[in-house]
Amino acid sequence: MSLHKHHPQHDAIVLDPAFDGGVGSIPKHRLPRGTQDADAAQRFVRDELMLDGNARQNLATFVTTWMEPQAAALMQESLEKNIIDKDEYPQSAEIERRCVNILANLWNAPAPTGGADAVGCSTTGSSEAAMLAGMALKWRWRARREAAGLDTAKPNLVMGANVQVCWEKFARYWDVEARLVPLDGATHLTAAQAAAACDENTIGVVAVLGSTFDGSYEPVAEMAAALDELQSRTGLDVPLHVDAASGGFVAPFLDPELVWDFRLDRVKSINSSGHKYGLVYPGVGWVLWRSTEDLPKDLIFSVDYLGGSMPTFALNFSRPAAQVIAQYYVLVRYGFDGYRRIQQRSRDIAGAIADGVGRLGPFTLLSRGDELPVLAFKLTAPDGWSVYDLSHELRSFGWIVPAYPMPEGMADVDVLRVVVRNGFTFDLAESLLVDMGKCVDRLSGAAKRAVAFHH
Ligand SMILES: *Cc1c(COP(=O)(O)O)cnc(C)c1O
Repeated sequence: MSLHKHHPQHDAIVLDPAFDGGVGSIPKHRLPRGTQDADAAQRFVRDELMLDGNARQNLATFVTTWMEPQAAALMQESLEKNIIDKDEYPQSAEIERRCVNILANLWNAPAPTGGADAVGCSTTGSSEAAMLAGMALKWRWRARREAAGLDTAKPNLVMGANVQVCWEKFARYWDVEARLVPLDGATHLTAAQAAAACDENTIGVVAVLGSTFDGSYEPVAEMAAALDELQSRTGLDVPLHVDAASGGFVAPFLDPELVWDFRLDRVKSINSSGHKYGLVYPGVGWVLWRSTEDLPKDLIFSVDYLGGSMPTFALNFSRPAAQVIAQYYVLVRYGFDGYRRIQQRSRDIAGAIADGVGRLGPFTLLSRGDELPVLAFKLTAPDGWSVYDLSHELRSFGWIVPAYPMPEGMADVDVLRVVVRNGFTFDLAESLLVDMGKCVDRLSGAAKRAVAFHH
């Protein structure tokens, strides 16, 4: 979309001659006729990017914004590698295999027989992982129904209204009814709600660890128990998928006693984002299945690999290997203890921010960062301004703190959310609280003056 439709002269960026190094004017939306000097072109693009926000003050995203220079160097050295070329880059394929096995172990997958590999693959992120896991659910459901001579026209997927948008996308793209259960009392789907929403056309239930809205964990074990109970009562055998986009790299380290993963028989597949708490720059996710039985064979294609063939399951063909290599680096570099320390620090910082927000006064916390290192809070009582005003005010200090309504069932509640990630420090948290205090004073003062004026 162009904001300058009627002003073609704005279509070109004219650089100041003192600054342009011979680049002259570069059209923004057409391929330039001539060739540019490499340094000048680089500076031109870099200057455009200067207008992007400052990642360290972006408390909206779950995605990694800082990695060690050693990781960046490894990525730089692998930029030309294509993860699908298993034959050309067998060691990258080997590294992907190792990552899948490491995650299978971390998520307590039953050991595959005969020393075989765990069942899973890397993806571009949790969204692609959700498409693959969702397809496996649909294919399995359809095969069961066809074998029993039953109708397969109306598959549905049960999930809370708080699921990430990728699941609605999956449902729409793959022609499945998105059975979104409105929130009722909790900030996420409950076990009783999940079981009650299932019927013979349910391909699966998605449990979220944890919710993007407030960072809370859904009660996966309770959901599994409720689905066990449903099966014993009705015969319906509904598989559970865990969307652990964030929690897959948090819970194993900080909540080892929490049973949410393949320890539950009903959990057939799990996805996670390597580029969130997996601590890798954007572009990597993971999806694992409990066993080969849970991933229908006709979804798998084979590619050439060392003179033989290797099974793959992906939406894309070509994809960068660098992110997978970076994931392996981080797993090796930090190990269990390192991940635990890093995630614990994020959780401690989130807790400190939650305490500080509580002390600021006008807020009620929906979550305090003790599950995902994420806190969400609302205004306790209206005071002539909204969370949207506060989000806007915080921008003036450079902080990006999103405000939004909760999902259906709680849509009258508007919240602000802070996501704490590796790279966010206690110092930054303190600055955030100081600035938030100033914003609250400013907004409350302005609201009082407005009231005084009108009276
Ligand atoms: C971020 C997120 C996704 C989407 O993941 P991407 O890796 O960004 O594609 C899906 N589900 C949940 C719960 C998430 O937090």
